[in-house]
Amino acid sequence: MGQSRKLRILTGDRPTGKLHLGHYVGTLANRVRLQDSYDCFFLVADLHMLTTRFERDILAETNQNIRDVVIDNLSVGIDPERSTYVLQSLVPQIPEIALIFSNLVTVPRLQRVPTLKDMMRDLEIEQPSMGLLNYPVLQAADILSVRADVVPVGKDQASHLEVTRELARRFNALYGEGTLPEPETLIGDVPTLIGIDGQAKASKSLGNAILLSDDVKTVEQKVRGMYTDPARIRADIPGNVEGNPVFIYHDAFNDDVAEVDDLKERYRQGKVGDVEVKRKLAAAINRFLEPVRARRAELEARPGLVAEILEAGSERAREEAAETLRMIKDAMGIAWKG
Ligand code: ATP
Ligand code: MG
Repeated sequence: MGQSRKLRILTGDRPTGKLHLGHYVGTLANRVRLQDSYDCFFLVADLHMLTTRFERDILAETNQNIRDVVIDNLSVGIDPERSTYVLQSLVPQIPEIALIFSNLVTVPRLQRVPTLKDMMRDLEIEQPSMGLLNYPVLQAADILSVRADVVPVGKDQASHLEVTRELARRFNALYGEGTLPEPETLIGDVPTLIGIDGQAKASKSLGNAILLSDDVKTVEQKVRGMYTDPARIRADIPGNVEGNPVFIYHDAFNDDVAEVDDLKERYRQGKVGDVEVKRKLAAAINRFLEPVRARRAELEARPGLVAEILEAGSERAREEAAETLRMIKDAMGIAWKG
């Protein structure tokens, strides 16, 4: 046997704003953990961004947003020497693969994807565009363009990954078993981190999140304003810990487990005020973000770094995607032979 190939990961983020704690627990933590054992591709999905953001003045922020997303990834400890960072729009084979895949899935199937309904509700979209409907198909093309085996994502993306798996199965059944891998979904420790306003999902588009780039004061201020048990109007009333955003964040980010247990116990008995619970949470989140801030400061002192990383990574992704496209066309019997 020759050298065994490392299994591959592909996952990514839309450049729609700065990354937050939800991204960390949903997917970034897995990226950090798996960067050595897998051959990782991290994609900045600027074509996916267009599915919900296309106004000209908003698009003017794209370049900055792309830089922010890459810096956010690097700041949590994902090493660019070990991983490949890709800008989706620099890999033209991806939309070509997506176009081929779009013939292998029906419109009603895509209309049933729950994330579509969530996005339409959150962003008040009445009718989905072709592009928005096609979101999971383009995502399948991202993933399969490098023939990825594992996709670490937050839970909101699980229904999209089902479409990727179905497309791979359908393609293989039609054109040759084993041509495309059927990638596995890897959900993070906190599948969906709740928003600081109590909404189901912290999201960059909804602005209800603590950012990885927030400073100490901003974290304190956001935590002070966090939604908590609404029935608890005084500190001496027993409170609800389950489903309470403040305790969900304590569980996710406070490394002092004894402190969290003590706070929960006293909260349930009505023996601790929200002020103390929140003050300790802000301190814990700031402890967690301290090394992230230090890395960010180093990275920001290196202009041109992000462009270098993205250009080199996108070149590698283009080579992989060109090979995949060749395999796809060969399997289908449509490769032009002249
Ligand atoms: P947008 O609102 O623009 O869609 P987003 O906050 O959903 O932004 P994405 O770029 O769509 O961010 O998602 C990047 C990755 O982060 C995906 O794997 C997604 O599942 C994960 N993720 C995003 N928000 C959360 C969250 N609150 N909890 C867990 N994972 C999350
Ligand atoms: Mg999203």
